[in-house]
Amino acid sequence: MTSTLPAADACDILIVGAGITGLAHAAEAVSRGLSVHIIDRDFHAAGASVRNFGHACVTAQSGELLELARTAREGWLRHSELAGFFSVESGGLAVARSGAELGVIEELAAARPGEVELVPAHDVHHRLGGSGDPAIVGGALLHSDVRVDPREAVGRLALWLAAQPNVTFSWRTSYRGSSDGVAQTSRGTIKAAHTLVCVGHDLDQVYPELAEEFEVKRCGLQMALVEAPGGRRISQAVLSGTSMLRYPAFAETAAAAALRTEMEERSPELLSIDANLMFTQRPDGSLIVGDSHITAATMDPFLDEATSDTLLRATATLLGTGPLAVRQRWQGIYATSARQSFLIESPSATVTTVTVTSGIGMTISFGLARRTFETLGSTRRLAASSAGGA
Ligand SMILES: Cc1cc2nc3c(=O)[nH]c(=O)nc-3n(C[C@H](O)[C@H](O)[C@H](O)COP(=O)(O)OP(=O)(O)OC[C@H]3O[C@@H](n4cnc5c(N)ncnc54)[C@H](O)[C@@H]3O)c2cc1C
Repeated sequence: MTSTLPAADACDILIVGAGITGLAHAAEAVSRGLSVHIIDRDFHAAGASVRNFGHACVTAQSGELLELARTAREGWLRHSELAGFFSVESGGLAVARSGAELGVIEELAAARPGEVELVPAHDVHHRLGGSGDPAIVGGALLHSDVRVDPREAVGRLALWLAAQPNVTFSWRTSYRGSSDGVAQTSRGTIKAAHTLVCVGHDLDQVYPELAEEFEVKRCGLQMALVEAPGGRRISQAVLSGTSMLRYPAFAETAAAAALRTEMEERSPELLSIDANLMFTQRPDGSLIVGDSHITAATMDPFLDEATSDTLLRATATLLGTGPLAVRQRWQGIYATSARQSFLIESPSATVTTVTVTSGIGMTISFGLARRTFETLGSTRRLAASSAGGA
C-alpha cells in the first residue's frame, strides 16, 4: 500500500466510491473511451453494495425507474460476462397467500402480460424447492428480474475495471472536496475534468447541505444468511406480501389498498418492523434473508434480536419449514428519502453527486450511469476538457 497517489493523477472522470453506483459509472465512462480514476476510502467495497440481496428487481418497478432498471439489467448481464461473475436470469417469484395478494399480482399480470406470469399454487411450492406455506394460493413469475451474488459481483467488477486501459484505482483514499477541477483526497490531489461523487448514504458527510435539502437520511436493515432447509435449490428471488406494499408496480395497483388493510390485521408484526420479507439464494446454496427498515440521521449499531426473530420465523413459515439455521447476521445501511428515489445533483460545475435514495441501487445503477453521462453532455467535450488523461 503506497501512501501517495499513483502517477496517473489526472483523468477525465474521477469517481468517488467503489460501490455499485460508482462502478457502474466507471464502466459507462470506460465504454465511452474516457480515462477514469476511482477512489474509495475503504480497502475494498464494504457498503450497501455487498450487504444486499443481489436482486435486480426490474419487473416490480414502474415509470422512469422501470426504464432505468431495464437498461441496468443489460448492464448486469454484459458485465457479468466481461468480468466473470455469477448472474442468473431466473426472474423473481411473488408468492400469494391470500385473496388480497392474489388480487395484486393478477392486476399486475393483466397490465404487463409476458413480463408477469401467474402460476398456480402447486408450481409455487415446486419453485420453493418442496412444499412451502400451506396457505399459498398462487404466485407470479417476474420474468425480467436478474440475480447476482452481492458478495462477489462488485469485487469482480472492480477487478475487471482495474484491468482496463486508462483506469486507475486508489483504495483507502478519502475524498475531501473539489475546487476548480482539482479534488482533495487523503493522499493528495487529483485533477479531473469531472468528478462523480457516488458515496451512498455518506452523502450526508461529504455534502451535508445536499442531504439536508433533499431530505436524505440513513435506512438501516437487518439481514441474515441461513442454510437452505434440506439443501433446497430456489432459483428465483422470492418476494412476499410485504414486498407488494413497497415496490411501485405492485403498490400502485388498485388492489394494494385492500392488501394493506388485510396485512394490518394478519401481519402487524411485519408492518411494525417495516419488513420487506424476501430472500435470494447464493451460488453456495445459502439464503440471504431480510429485511426490516428503520430510518435515522445516525444509525444505532445495535441489532434487535426480536426483529431478526420476526423475519426468520416469517421466512420459515413461507418456506413451510421449521426454524432456520443462521450462519451470519448483519446490518445494511442505504440512503433513503421520502422525496425522490435517486438524486443527481451538481454542487459545482465540475462535480456531480449520484445517490440512490431508495433500496434499489442494484436494480438501477447501470441505468443511472447511462443517464448521468447523457446529462453530462458529449463525451468528446468531456475528453477535450480533460486535465491530460491517465
Ligand atoms: C440490506 C440491503 C438490501 C438491499 N437489497 C437490494 C436489492 O435486493 N436490490 C436492489 O436493487 N438494491 C438493494 N439494496 C440497495 C442497494 O444495495 C444500494 O442502493 C446500493 O448498493 C448503493 O450503492 P452505492 O454504491 O451508492 O453505495 P455503497 O455500496 O454504500 O458504496 C459507497 C462507497 O463510497 C465509499 N465512500 C464513502 N464516503 C467516501 C469518501 N469520503 N471518500 C471515498 N470513498 C467514500 C464507501 O467506502 C463505499 O464503498 C439493498 C441495500 C441494503 C443495505
